[in-house]
Amino acid sequence: MTADTSDQPNEAPKTDERLGTITGVRVCAKCGFNLMGQLILREPIYNLIVARCPECGQVTPLQEYPTLGRTAKRWATLLGGVWVLFVLGASVGISFAMMGLMFGAVEVGGDDFSDALPGDWWQTSADRETQLQTLQDMGGVIAAIDPWILSLWFGGAVLSLIAGIGASIVMLGIRGVRLALVPMLLLIVPVVGFGIRRAVVLAEIKGGSVGTSEIAEWLMGPHITAITLVIFAVMLAAGATFGRRIVRALVVLLLPPPMRAGLAPLWLTDGKDLPKSPAWGAKKAK
Ligand SMILES: [Zn+2]
Repeated sequence: MTADTSDQPNEAPKTDERLGTITGVRVCAKCGFNLMGQLILREPIYNLIVARCPECGQVTPLQEYPTLGRTAKRWATLLGGVWVLFVLGASVGISFAMMGLMFGAVEVGGDDFSDALPGDWWQTSADRETQLQTLQDMGGVIAAIDPWILSLWFGGAVLSLIAGIGASIVMLGIRGVRLALVPMLLLIVPVVGFGIRRAVVLAEIKGGSVGTSEIAEWLMGPHITAITLVIFAVMLAAGATFGRRIVRALVVLLLPPPMRAGLAPLWLTDGKDLPKSPAWGAKKAK
């Protein structure tokens, strides 16, 4: 028996040898179909370990060769570090942009009231009682808000939505309430900024400065800031919650299936099947 096989070394099995099934995420390079659960085979001709795509018939070798060398691994580590720094930097940038928009909203939103006070932006003769009466006559703090604030709120809403969508892509492993809550960290800078600015305005007013815009900021700032932060928070949560859905729709719309393959985690992380692509891969293969 032993002698027989050594005499005929070329007698390889003529059919695929079944080795198991694919357990991890593996995407067909041709049509983007998720190959998880497909048979792992050793094909008889070259003894290569392969899997067949059930959608388009493409045979995919499963051994990744050559593997990452030492230099490539170093590059991968470096790229990973650069990516983390980029995400951190972008987060800080967005956070400060939000603070800027929020301060802008307080200034613009107080313009109508500021104009209604007697005197100039640097000096008003109205005492606190007159200031409050003027605000009352305008219908209260909310009614007194200058409508031009809408442009800043709109800008802040768009920025927050984009930041939320970005967060949903960066944090692929996170879902649900946690995904909606983590982007709220971006509100730390605006909230701290509000506290600092409040202290500065208070110090100026106590120091005798009674410009109309300072009065407007002092009396209307908390309301405007609260509304602005709610807009930021709602849009961040909405962006984070619907972000991956939006990006998936864009990917299907804009990218042909072979280019989608690398984006498979966008689907798989939410337990969704990859989009079928009959027009591209399946027909061509047969
Ligand atoms: Zn395929």
